Amino acid sequence: MTILEQAEDLRKQAISLLLQERETIDQKLNQLGHNGEPVEIKNRKAKTCGSCGREGHTSRSCPSPSILPP
Ligand SMILES: [Zn+2]
Repeated sequence: MTILEQAEDLRKQAISLLLQERETIDQKLNQLGHNGEPVEIKNRKAKTCGSCGREGHTSRSCPSPSILPP
């Protein structure tokens, strides 16, 4: 086996190892939701009103002030 062939073998080994590593990292990234919006922030954005329970506004800007807690 020539030195060039050995180097090529080492290169392929390194590539396959990195690909395995990337697969693992991709799985972790997917679990963290890096492809879309962060799950937690999305849930916070869609929070509901504390007074009437509807989405789109907060209890401060609630159109139904009569239900506001004292
Ligand atoms: Zn409301």
